[in-house]
Order: sequence, then C-alpha cells, then structure tokens
Amino acid sequence: GFKCGIVGLPNVGKSTLFNALTRTAAAQAANYPFCTIEPNTGEVAVPDPRLDKIAATAKSKDIIPTRISFVDIAGLVRGASKGEGLGNQFLANIREVDAIVHVLRCFEDDDITHVEGRINPVADAETVETELMLADLESLERRIVQIRKRAQGKDKEAMAALPMMEKALALLQDGKPTRHLLKDIDAEDLRSLKGLNLLTSHPVLYVCNVAESDAAKGNAHTMAVDEMAAAQGARTVVISAAIEAEVAQLPDEDEREFLASMGLDEPGLDKLIRAGYELLHLITYFTAGPKETRAWTIERGTKAPQAAGVIHSDFERGFIRAQTIAYDDFIALGGEVAAKEAGKARDEGKEYVVQDGDILLFRFNT
Ligand code: GDP
Repeated sequence: GFKCGIVGLPNVGKSTLFNALTRTAAAQAANYPFCTIEPNTGEVAVPDPRLDKIAATAKSKDIIPTRISFVDIAGLVRGASKGEGLGNQFLANIREVDAIVHVLRCFEDDDITHVEGRINPVADAETVETELMLADLESLERRIVQIRKRAQGKDKEAMAALPMMEKALALLQDGKPTRHLLKDIDAEDLRSLKGLNLLTSHPVLYVCNVAESDAAKGNAHTMAVDEMAAAQGARTVVISAAIEAEVAQLPDEDEREFLASMGLDEPGLDKLIRAGYELLHLITYFTAGPKETRAWTIERGTKAPQAAGVIHSDFERGFIRAQTIAYDDFIALGGEVAAKEAGKARDEGKEYVVQDGDILLFRFNT
C-alpha cells in the first residue's frame, strides 16, 4: 500500500495526531475487518462521499472504502543526519515512505517545551529540511564517486544512473531539496530519481498543528507556513491535534455537534487523509454491485489492465475489457442498467487510462 510518513521536531504533536489517526482506524476496524495496525503504522479509510451515493444507487449491502497508511517516524532532531537521537533508525524509516507529512508546531503552550526554545514553524521546517538534505548530500557524495568511475569505464548501468545523480547532487549542493526535480519529470527520470532513494525527493505536505481556538481560522504562524509552502508549491493543512484526539474518542453521533462547536464542518483528519491521497497522485475507481460498493486506489495514469490487477492478478493477466461508467452518469441515470440503456456504459480496452470516479466491471479470461 501507499504510505505517508509523519515527521517533525519533538513535541510538535506528531504522536497526538498519529494516535488520533489510529484510534479512528481502530474504530473503523470493527466495520472493515482487513484493517491491520502495527505499532507505528496505521491504515486508515479514505473518506469519500461518493461511496454512499454509489451504494445507495446500486443497493449494495456493504461499503468498502480504500485505504492509505500513515507511519509515525519519531526521532528527528537537529543532528539526525549525523546519527544523533534515533538518527539512523529515523533515516531508514523515512526511506520507506512515498510522501512526507511534516507536522509544524503552530500552538503556544508554555508547559510544553519547544526543543529550540521558541515557536517558529518556518524555522522548524528549515531545521528538519536541512537534516534531510545533509543526509542526502552525504549519501550521494559517497555513492557518486564509484558511479563516476564506472561510467568512465563505459559501464552501461552507471552511465544510465549518473545524469540524475549529478542533477540531484547539484541541487543539494545548492541547498535545495531534490523534490524540485519532480516538476515536469517524465516516467523514466522519475524511476531514476526514485532509484536513488533520497529523503528529499518525497513530496511534502505541511500540517500546521494549532490550538483548539485557532482550528477554524489558523493564526499568524499558519499564515507564515502558507507563504513558505506556496513558494515551494507545497500544500498545507491546518489541524488541531488536540481536537482530533477528542473527536477520535467521541461516539459518531456526537461528532458533528462537537466539530460545529469548534467552527469546523468535518474532522481535520478527513482533510489530512484526502490531502495525503492527493499528494501521492492517487485516484479512486469503484466497483459496485448488490454485495458491495468498493473503492480501489491506483496511481493517476494507470491503464485498465493494471487497474484490474489491484483487485486480483488474474484480472490483469486475463484482461479482456472494462465496462466503464463515469460516476456522474451512474448517479444521474440511476445505476448500471439505466446507464447502459442511455449508452453511457463504454467498453474500454487495454490502453484505456482509468479516470478518477470510474465505475468499472472487468471482463477477463481465467
Ligand atoms: P511529538 O513529540 O511531536 O510526537 O509530540 P506529542 O504528540 O507527544 O505532543 C507533545 C505534547 O504537546 C503533548 O503533551 C501533547 O499533549 C501536546 N500537544 C499536542 N498537540 C497540541 C495542541 O494542539 N495544543 C496543545 N496545547 N498541546 C498539544
């Protein structure tokens, strides 16, 4: 599955947020039996209002949302790149994720020590980013010596790898994270970049953790983070981890009222999960029938056979075609039969690029 790693300095609210996520996941586990929770990994359902509508139209018995994982990556302190704190473990954990959720402390509280002695989320973001860049710089400088030698000796693999390594190294030496390379990157270069296994090439989402009273509107700190993120082309989400921790413990029927009293119309975690999903360039397609309506996750740009493979490898191997109904047509016309009659059920083949919201029925050889 796809994983977002939660990082940030100590005492910014990472664990509080992660625990709220896993408590939500634990509550969901009763309904969705395949939800497994490891100590520092929580798998959560991706909230999607389309599921209820499709299920109502298709008269499905069950609804099964799709999921993504969040990993609590503890141990980042100044000097982590040099092995301070939980440095090495931290670096190993962060390499395994697909995207980074960077939690920034935007709440004042004299009782909770800030490791740097002052609340300044933009400076904190730089501290964390510097550690990650130093770790990348060190690992690249170490590896590139060999690769340059081998490339000079006309080693094909090294010759193929070297250009991306040089580009990444130049960026890091210039004090910039390698995710700058993600802009307008083609599939082949993306593979090369991913192959370098760098910490700063993951896409980043900033989470501003604010006091309960600032959850609806943010504050001066979150505005500063917004400005920084905009300059980087990154997104931000404002959340009060304290509120989320409370919401996660409330019975469902009390949740709306509690949120409304805080000026919120949905849990911050829902916003966070959706933002994480978009950060990973993931989209959703659906399958719908009397038994269940189910959401499936694919990367944007996935073709029909590979999309079928997410359900079962047999579906991909024996793929013939996919009956495709767009979500809007399915809902507006009132389901599969009506959509077919209206000519809105298309038969798509191997080259079809699945679109977000497609309701698919696969035909395949066994
Ligand atoms: P971590 O070290 O980043 O995992 O931070 P924790 O989640 O352990 O939080 C550190 C301390 O800050 C704990 O005592 C939390 O209860 C507190 N904390 C977390 N979020 C908030 C918040 O939004 N407001 C306030 N006042 N305290 C918070």
